[in-house]
Amino acid sequence: MIHAIKGDITKISYVQAIVNAANESLLGGGGVDGAIHYAAGPDLLEECKTLGGCQIGEAKITKGYNLPCEYIIHTVGPRWHGGERGEAELLASCYLNSLKIAMENGIRKVAFPSISTGAFGYPVEKAAKVAVETVNQFLCDHSDKIEDVYWVLFDNHTLSVYENEIKSIRDAGELYIDKMLENPDIVAAFANAMNLGNLGVIAPHKKKYYDRYSIQWLIDQVDSGAELKFITFWQADSGCENREFSQWYQGEPFIINGRKYYTAEQYMMSEKALFARDYEAYDKIMKEKSPAECKSLGRKVKNLDGKEWGRVAREVIFHGNLGKFQADISLVDKLLSTGDAILIEASPYDNLYGSGIAKENLLNPDGSLKVHPKNWHTEDNPSKLSENKLGFVLMGIRDLFRDLMSKTEK
Ligand code: ADP
Repeated sequence: MIHAIKGDITKISYVQAIVNAANESLLGGGGVDGAIHYAAGPDLLEECKTLGGCQIGEAKITKGYNLPCEYIIHTVGPRWHGGERGEAELLASCYLNSLKIAMENGIRKVAFPSISTGAFGYPVEKAAKVAVETVNQFLCDHSDKIEDVYWVLFDNHTLSVYENEIKSIRDAGELYIDKMLENPDIVAAFANAMNLGNLGVIAPHKKKYYDRYSIQWLIDQVDSGAELKFITFWQADSGCENREFSQWYQGEPFIINGRKYYTAEQYMMSEKALFARDYEAYDKIMKEKSPAECKSLGRKVKNLDGKEWGRVAREVIFHGNLGKFQADISLVDKLLSTGDAILIEASPYDNLYGSGIAKENLLNPDGSLKVHPKNWHTEDNPSKLSENKLGFVLMGIRDLFRDLMSKTEK
């Protein structure tokens, strides 16, 4: 995807390469160039000396040294002379050549500064238009190679200009990812990739797994008189029943999109921070092993649109738990062994991801239901129907694993 965020590009840790707005000598300078050399350390200059400079519009790659990312791609933007001296073409070349080098080096996530709009005087509105259009077009052709492009922008004005530019391309229906989803072949390829367990792809088809079950579905099932079996879990401490299903369960660390997570809780909270664009909280959560700490950091995420977050939370916990289960086949076995049982996070406190009712109050000793799901709520909030989102998403993941297995058995 294409993102514009506010920040200091030398601090970004979730891309493999950042781009430097350098000058022809490649020997350092002011602005973002100076900041990158300062943060990378003197070895960067030593490597740059061996490169023989760089022409305007071209790009060269070095290692990242002390930066959190692996590589630096150095490109030289054009100086602004009024727009009649090929500035737009040269600026577009900066982006194209940087992305080409990224691709050749297996880099999938790249961060750019606002090239040329500082000392080189390129008007930000004009530069952002060239930048976003060029990158958008490049991703149309190469989205299998480049996953994420970020503009990391230093000041609010530049940020809002890039944001507006991205928005206007999206509103015009030209954003590459939206255009791709109009193509049935691509949608099918995405769905297929998802079935192979390739996470982090745009796959509207996964919705059929994470949205399949809901409290209303369960109410209907109970009312229809269907014979139902219930399995509860809550908390991950040793000795807790079915603790593997808790988002706090810490088994093998797992990798999603090249990032390592200790618990599904950490995944969820880190995505929450990303969703709110609170990158500081994101960095903290990614460094935190304890799920309790992750949750508490997640609570403090700034600028969260709670309503919108609620809308995507199912998809996020689906991804996180899929990653977690895939990392450990014994977890998959455990999940499959629950058969068709309704899975319930029997937390007396959580009416969103759980039932809001503890097991002993929810189920009879024979395992049958004590409380009809239309009456599930926490003690302190009787007017809010519990949603048991985690239980239902886990049931969707169980279905997905079953579908996958029936495919491999054929
Ligand atoms: P150019 O010479 O290509 O114009 P500059 O470095 O002078 O490059 O400016 C490019 C943009 O980078 C400006 O918007 C400037 O505010 C911004 N910038 C400066 N330092 C940083 C940094 N550490 N992270 C991100 N952007 C930065």
